[in-house]
Amino acid sequence: MKVVQISFLADNYGYLIVCEKSREAAIIDPSEAEPAWRAVEREAVNLRAILNTHHHRDHTGGNAGLLERYSLDVYAHRIDRDRLPGLTHPVEDGSEVTVGELRARVLFIPGHTKGHVAYLFENRLFCGDTLFIAGCGRLFEGTAEQMLSSLTRLRDLPGDTLVYCGHEYTEKNLQFAMTLEPNNRTLVEKIPQVHSLRIEGKSTVPSTISEEKDTNPFFRWESKEIQQNLKKSFPSLGSDPVSVFSQIRKLKDQF
Ligand code: ZN
Ligand code: FE
Repeated sequence: MKVVQISFLADNYGYLIVCEKSREAAIIDPSEAEPAWRAVEREAVNLRAILNTHHHRDHTGGNAGLLERYSLDVYAHRIDRDRLPGLTHPVEDGSEVTVGELRARVLFIPGHTKGHVAYLFENRLFCGDTLFIAGCGRLFEGTAEQMLSSLTRLRDLPGDTLVYCGHEYTEKNLQFAMTLEPNNRTLVEKIPQVHSLRIEGKSTVPSTISEEKDTNPFFRWESKEIQQNLKKSFPSLGSDPVSVFSQIRKLKDQF
């Protein structure tokens, strides 16, 4: 399996997934058509499907243009049936998607939107705007409880699972993480690494689930340091996961 990362718009990532045996391919979250079909031509593959993680325009803006050029199956959660351009194959938790000889499992992970899904190909997770490197998506349509349970499912995946997210937000996310956990050594060490990648114009994606467990504040509601720092500003805050998580999310919204 080959994964080609494609940059779209200011900071979006889409992914061309290629089955190297059959040369069939699918594209995840094409924000725009042109960079997507250019990648398809460069790789000389047969584009067969669009896999959308959620309905937001920066993840689906290329659907219409690609459908003019190719005949494609379009996958997204059935909740988005009436608002996702070109949807032909509504999916739900546990659905299977095949690309040539590759197989993906659909994980329903609402919170950012109510129909958000991830696609898990072997140990590669394509998670859109639910989980970012060192961050998570805003709660546009879901509750903190929903987002927490979606993130918990992702956190429970094997540590070596590669995390391919929908945006290059890593540097800003790490700055925020540092405000909550300045003594987390793994976090402190990650900052200069990410900074030099960005200076060279390189992507910080993918990361792994185990790296996220060590550094992402939205996977770290159990961290004593985070809890203590939150309680300095919010003395009455509970230590239960939902309270800690939603307070971190609120602070990030204002960061
Ligand atoms: Zn989004
Ligand atoms: Fe987005």
